[in-house]
Amino acid sequence: MGETSLQVKLLKWTPNPEATIALAARLCYTETDIASLATSFKAGDEKALIKRLLAFGHLSPIEHASFTFGIEGVSRSLLAQLTRHRIASFSVQSQRYVGKTSNKSPDGVFNYVIPPRIKSLGQFYIDRFDKQMRQIQSWYDEWNQLLGDKGEASQEDARFVLPNAAETKLILTMNARELRYFFRLRCCNRAQWEIRMMAIEMLRQVKPIAPALFEDAGPACIVGPCPEGAMNCGKIRSVRHFFKTL
Ligand SMILES: Cc1cc2nc3c(=O)[nH]c(=O)nc-3n(C[C@H](O)[C@H](O)[C@H](O)COP(=O)(O)OP(=O)(O)OC[C@H]3O[C@@H](n4cnc5c(N)ncnc54)[C@H](O)[C@@H]3O)c2cc1C
Repeated sequence: MGETSLQVKLLKWTPNPEATIALAARLCYTETDIASLATSFKAGDEKALIKRLLAFGHLSPIEHASFTFGIEGVSRSLLAQLTRHRIASFSVQSQRYVGKTSNKSPDGVFNYVIPPRIKSLGQFYIDRFDKQMRQIQSWYDEWNQLLGDKGEASQEDARFVLPNAAETKLILTMNARELRYFFRLRCCNRAQWEIRMMAIEMLRQVKPIAPALFEDAGPACIVGPCPEGAMNCGKIRSVRHFFKTL
């Protein structure tokens, strides 16, 4: 067991996502058949069309492009927030298989995320956090033992003492409409730091794949006023600059 940190990898995506979206959008406004539409595209056409769709809010065509991410080194606390996004699809590693301290894993088995604010307190407090995690592992092992050490059957109850800091791994798929909406909420400075870091990394990775689709993606304030009102972060200029140059 030990400290872990965020890893995000864009694994798969709809091939030619912008061309797929443009094809779907053009079908809405034409009387021709799909095969002719697909061959009558001029290079570059799709970018202008996607910008128009986004500008006038015709967003169902952008649902035809999906993006799948492999995410590791995130906390159960992040997972609770992420799974509130109901349009996304998730496959999450089960804690039933966390396992126990054994000859194979003498050092304990669960990894954990240390929040940056705790890290910034210095090594003494990082060591303290590590020690607390090891204490929790020992509670987990104790419950597993008391429940008969029956693998899955005892682990599924022993895991109730595991912390929010415990690492989880997941595969996440979102279509582009949900992804843009997710970026709007979770790239904002008001979002919690861990999900914000993850959202920014996801945005960084999809931008080169579909530049027109994600050019203006990010927190709401990069294309208009901050919707947070009095709770705004007061950093609109630097936020806009950051996302423009991401
Ligand atoms: C900064 C921040 C703080 C938060 N704090 C809290 C908190 O303290 N407590 C808390 O409980 N949550 C909190 N949340 C979570 C928040 O309430 C939402 O659950 C989360 O952001 C997902 O948003 P959503 O439901 O709009 O998105 P999704 O589930 O991804 O849905 C996308 C959109 O689809 C539509 N939709 C989806 N499902 C339905 C439905 N059943 N009926 C109608 N329309 C639907 C809606 O238009 C929705 O906006 C917080 C979120 C943020 C960003």
